[in-house]
Amino acid sequence: RGLPAGQDSAFTLTSVEDYLPLIGPEAVTRILAKAAALRDLHVVNVNSTYYGGGVAEILSSLTLLMNGAGIHAGWRVLQGRPDFFSITKKMHNALQGGEINLSDLKRDIYEEVVFENAARMHLDHDLIVVHDPQPLPLVRFFRKKAPWVWRCHVDLSDPHPGLWSYLSAFIEQYDAVVLSLPEYAQPIGPPQRFVMPAINPFSTTNKALSEAEIDDRLQHYDIPTDLPLVVQVSRFDRWKDPQGVIDAFRLARREVEATLVLVGNVATDDPEGQEIFESLCSCREERIRILSVQDSALVNALQRRAAVVLQKSLREGFGLTVTEAMWKGTPVIGGRVGGIRHQIEDGVNGFLVESVEQAAGRIVQLLQDAELRHRLGRRARQTVRDRFLMTRLMEDWLDLIGSFEP
Ligand code: UDP
Repeated sequence: RGLPAGQDSAFTLTSVEDYLPLIGPEAVTRILAKAAALRDLHVVNVNSTYYGGGVAEILSSLTLLMNGAGIHAGWRVLQGRPDFFSITKKMHNALQGGEINLSDLKRDIYEEVVFENAARMHLDHDLIVVHDPQPLPLVRFFRKKAPWVWRCHVDLSDPHPGLWSYLSAFIEQYDAVVLSLPEYAQPIGPPQRFVMPAINPFSTTNKALSEAEIDDRLQHYDIPTDLPLVVQVSRFDRWKDPQGVIDAFRLARREVEATLVLVGNVATDDPEGQEIFESLCSCREERIRILSVQDSALVNALQRRAAVVLQKSLREGFGLTVTEAMWKGTPVIGGRVGGIRHQIEDGVNGFLVESVEQAAGRIVQLLQDAELRHRLGRRARQTVRDRFLMTRLMEDWLDLIGSFEP
């Protein structure tokens, strides 16, 4: 089928069979049978960045897993100038409950850039999956010959009504809409499905690392390891509340010794990130490290070495960073919002918090109690194994694809 992994290649695609020790033979057989029924189907995904956020992380793994199972799953990335992405970032913020001034100029730039992409994209697949608001209008510019699915990953608990009504004109043209959680459901025509994201345990972000490999990554960035690490990994985005993390850490430091590491990146479709990073950099304290870098192995090392991982989001579509840390057996303190609430059961496999003070209290409690850290961490890993591995996500998609008429 034209796959690149020849016999002399050092590389192979992760296959569903590789998950056997994690999900068992029955699940492997069932998923492979569902994939076989859809063999040679051409699916294409369109999103707006190759790296830097959860959607890119999911697509890079899911498309390869599907190809390994005989489905031609492609991935296209929308091209746009910074002014386009500044508009779509404002839309992203407004979908999560922020304000927006939706001028005619903004609408024109948004629709025109998507139109130009449509002209270049030649989407003649058996299924087209469009991710998030950036490429949403694509559907308008094609004569539809196959099902189109809009997969929206953002926290839709309180979308801006004016923006939603504008976007609805595009959304209504889709054959189905996939959201992360039932509580994000909207009053729209197309059928809505709810599918939670998942992680690839074999990726650079998640694969097992030796203590030496972890040390090496941390040393590379001069991250001190003399005290326990408190870590948050997130795009520099206001919904991730990096300032709240710093405030909580400062409060906790009155009672415990630790180092805070905030690691973030700036995705190509996120022009606000640099500004937020710079606003945080003014905080110069020996025990607070703020790094802007795209290094998945560093993310992995930090999530493994951390005594506590924070994800103090104020809105969160799902929160793959939570899943990733939980998979590594690290206890997570997460904001009680969106998808985090579906991963963390408060006090069972992590903690949910609603304020800086609560976050600080849980940091202190966890740093003082190794047994509690291990107990929560063990259950966290089990939660991910049961519900949030990439094979489960692939099966959800196979079921969805199979539900469309041939
Ligand atoms: N990520 C990363 N480097 C960073 C920050 C984030 O590689 O500095 C990755 C992170 O490991 C996760 C994804 O980006 O896989 C973020 O997904 P999440 O669902 O947590 O949030 P999103 O950015 O999509 O809002």
